Amino acid sequence: MSKRILLIDDSKTQLQYLKMNFEKAGFEVVTASDGSEGYRAVFESAPDVILSDIVMPKLNGLRLCRLIKNSDIIDKIPVVLLTVLDKKLDKFWGNKSGADKFILKTEEFSNIEAIVNKLIEANPISDEYRANILKNVQTGDFLDSTIDSTLSAFLMSSVLSSEFRGLNQYISHDSAFILELCKFINTFLEYDVMGIFLNSPDNNEKKILNFDIENAQVSSFVLEKIKRDFFLQMPDVTKFSTREFAHSIVMAPENPSGSIKNVSEFKSSYIFPIIASDSSLLGGICFYSRNDVNYKDKNFHDTMVNELTSLFQLRYVYSSTEYLSVTDGLTGLYNRRHFENSIEREFMRVKRYPADLSLAMLDIDFFKKINDTYGHQFGDYVLKQVANLVNGSFRKTDMIYRYGGEEFVIILTETPIENALIPLERLREKVESFKFSYNGQETNVTISIGLSCYNKDLTSYNMLIESTDKALYHAKQTGRNKLVTTSYE
Ligand code: GH3
Ligand code: MG
Ligand code: MG
Repeated sequence: MSKRILLIDDSKTQLQYLKMNFEKAGFEVVTASDGSEGYRAVFESAPDVILSDIVMPKLNGLRLCRLIKNSDIIDKIPVVLLTVLDKKLDKFWGNKSGADKFILKTEEFSNIEAIVNKLIEANPISDEYRANILKNVQTGDFLDSTIDSTLSAFLMSSVLSSEFRGLNQYISHDSAFILELCKFINTFLEYDVMGIFLNSPDNNEKKILNFDIENAQVSSFVLEKIKRDFFLQMPDVTKFSTREFAHSIVMAPENPSGSIKNVSEFKSSYIFPIIASDSSLLGGICFYSRNDVNYKDKNFHDTMVNELTSLFQLRYVYSSTEYLSVTDGLTGLYNRRHFENSIEREFMRVKRYPADLSLAMLDIDFFKKINDTYGHQFGDYVLKQVANLVNGSFRKTDMIYRYGGEEFVIILTETPIENALIPLERLREKVESFKFSYNGQETNVTISIGLSCYNKDLTSYNMLIESTDKALYHAKQTGRNKLVTTSYE
């Protein structure tokens, strides 16, 4: 079967010259004398390749090419643009328009033919694809409406992009960021439930799916189901355990109309992970609606995914830096600076809304001797290992910090002193019985612990720290490897 080429040029002489040569080379040739005629001819002839001039009245070659490449029906047909000069600007716009190749008009015909043949070979048009093009022949003012919808898609995408970029002022603050993102997406997308998940560089952080609920009340059964489906679709978050995942409702309707009790009430749904270029998971987003909504609509979908990816990436990098500035490099625990911030905040909180707050401080016994006997590296290993043991001994809501060299502090919120005793005593025993073994050397280590709790006589968080420190000192003075509380003094 002979190959079909569509030639588009407003110069009759040029068109005649190319037509004659391509026919001689065995091609079936269709011609058009301007861009809009050419666009129609693509649908009428379903060619294997298109060769078009750039400078033409009405619709020029660049815009014609963009229209072709923007279509779902004819975008696979290779387009070659003919240029007069080797102009940089033509090439720039030509690339933006999606052209497959540029050829100088002055090029020898044999070279033009070779390039065209190569393109056809690399992009074969199947019979099925061709039949579909011919089926879609449009008449009347289809060209105007195509240009119109293409332009509005571009306009929409550039407006969306700039609006999304405005959100980056909120990236340093997770909850404000999520709230603003919800408000914005709500202005152009229809849904009953939207879920947003921001992955955290801090592995200890709970994974939370934040919900924006519109219109109706949604039962917690439905939210649980959505959460489960959502996290099952996130890469690297394969195992779903309800302990590790939570949900939070960011926005809910003030006057809900009706309620959604079952997931089957949703007609449309869409879940997608947001992934960085290095394939790490940045987060994800999902939509559910009781109506028919095409969440993959090209007009906004690609733009939305691109913009969300760069936005989430920015936030992730920001929180990684934040994370590094509050953690200790050796143990991965929070550092002393972060402790000062946290204890001040927690102290103010219990002062205003009375609650239990316990503070523990622990110190490795005769740690200097370990360094002296086994070396500094062994000392570092012991520190890391003790940090692991501490980390595994408390609730997720308790906060653990490396306070100094071989000193750790633990803030136990909502915990009266008698409840803090239990895990701390268990930790002391765990450390005592642990075999610290590194590079063929093995030893035992003990820790001393001081514990105290908030009472209203303490007027500043420093007093709480001092009182805990005193308890620790007491433990050291009275034999080490023990737990002492302030009230026993
Ligand atoms: P005590 O039972 O009274 O606490 O005795 P100690 O030897 O543990 O007390 P001291 O506070 O005098 O010694 C702490 C030692 O911890 C001194 C320091 O060299 C060591 N140290 C501090 N930071 C690090 C670290 O990051 N790595 C290692 N290997 N050692 C450290
Ligand atoms: Mg010590
Ligand atoms: Mg010490």
